[in-house]
Amino acid sequence: MAKKVMLIGAGGVAGVAAAKMCQNPQVFGELLIASRTESRCRAIKADIESRTWFAAKGIFTKISTAQIDAMDVGKLTALIRSFAPDLVMNIALPYQDLAIMDACLAAGVSYLDTANYEPPEEAHFEYSWQWAYREKFEQAGLVAILGCGFDPGVTQVFSAFAQKHYFDTIETLDILDCNGGDHGYPFATNFNPEINIREVAAKGSYWVADPSDDKPEVPVETRKAFDKGYWVETAPMAIKREYVFDQVGKKDMYLLHHEELESLGCNLKGIKRIRFFMTFGQSYLTHLKCLENVGLTRIDPIDFKGQKIVPIEFLKALLPDPASLGPRTKGKTNIGCIFHGEKGGKPVDYYVYNVCDHESCYAEVGSQAISYTTGVPAMIGAKLFLEGKWTAKGVHTCEEFDPDPFMAELNVQGLPWQETFNPVAVP
Ligand code: NDP
Repeated sequence: MAKKVMLIGAGGVAGVAAAKMCQNPQVFGELLIASRTESRCRAIKADIESRTWFAAKGIFTKISTAQIDAMDVGKLTALIRSFAPDLVMNIALPYQDLAIMDACLAAGVSYLDTANYEPPEEAHFEYSWQWAYREKFEQAGLVAILGCGFDPGVTQVFSAFAQKHYFDTIETLDILDCNGGDHGYPFATNFNPEINIREVAAKGSYWVADPSDDKPEVPVETRKAFDKGYWVETAPMAIKREYVFDQVGKKDMYLLHHEELESLGCNLKGIKRIRFFMTFGQSYLTHLKCLENVGLTRIDPIDFKGQKIVPIEFLKALLPDPASLGPRTKGKTNIGCIFHGEKGGKPVDYYVYNVCDHESCYAEVGSQAISYTTGVPAMIGAKLFLEGKWTAKGVHTCEEFDPDPFMAELNVQGLPWQETFNPVAVP
């Protein structure tokens, strides 16, 4: 029977998730899009309803919209109760995660998001804040699926799939996120500028089980114990590699801290090292350095003509809205995971990745590939929950569920994956 979903947020990713839900009306019977600015929810609804695929199967998702500030837990709880959805999807910003989880607990509804909690006043994200809700969700008999985008999200599904089918033990994992797209602007971000800049301006870090195995190539700033291993922290963008990506070509990529490293360090058996690399062009890096140098990426409030302003919020207002990049962006993304480990005593190397074309995404749902590669997995996570396939009670990251139905959905919902057992390793 078709189910009801409430989607919070009306940006680039929410627009894709909503469109993909409406492509699966047999599961998503009713959709409420609620966000801070209701006109953006209405614009998403109008765009979806104008698409040729909408209602093409003779059934369609009934869409309604609402205004909500998700930080207001009381009002949000009342809205959830009045719509009575089977699932609340948080595709607003990471700042809202805890408020929406509180409202879900109060209203007795399960939860899904695409990015882990980050306090607005501190450029720092980690799972501890949301993992603290585990018992509450378990006791309420509810499910919270965390970080169900591409990275985090699909990268953890890929990891669970590799572990289930190809490895006894995975020793090393490198996650490679390549965007070979060009939007023609000297500087713009492909998802929320504030969250994106906070992420890439942060110190680089990777996770190792045993620091004595690690031969750092750049000065290590800190080594902090975490779970069964250690975080090794370096200056931002200090570790660089060149890699040739299928269907994109040669790119420079830089080691970043990323949220899935934290849960995968806990959940992959025998893992010794996990790193995350993202590609950046020289123009992006030069602009970012300049913005940092002049103080425009600061997250603390400053006085300006008797008013308090947060420089990064002001910068966000100047930059192009990521949702507007769709018609301008050409090229492809290639995001995947390279594993090394062993099975039956023999060494195994395995690379699984998806290639996604910006222009095809725009033709299908009016978005660029970064929003697409995040919104499609969010819809798949919701679909598997509603179909009773991802239903373990409590708070979970994506590698904790059965990867097989998710991998099958990726192939039919627009993000087909490819695999090779002979990848070029990242040095
Ligand atoms: P956008 O900035 O385009 O959209 C964010 C939306 O959230 C806007 O519609 C905004 O409202 C709304 N919003 C913000 N604050 C509130 C609030 N207090 N109450 C209600 N609504 C609010 O972001 P993106 O679509 O680019 O990204 C969405 C999420 O996806 C982010 O959390 C991002 O970190 C995550 N992401 C995850 C990825 C992954 O692979 N896992 C990759 C890319 C993004 P308004 O319109 O009024 O501004």
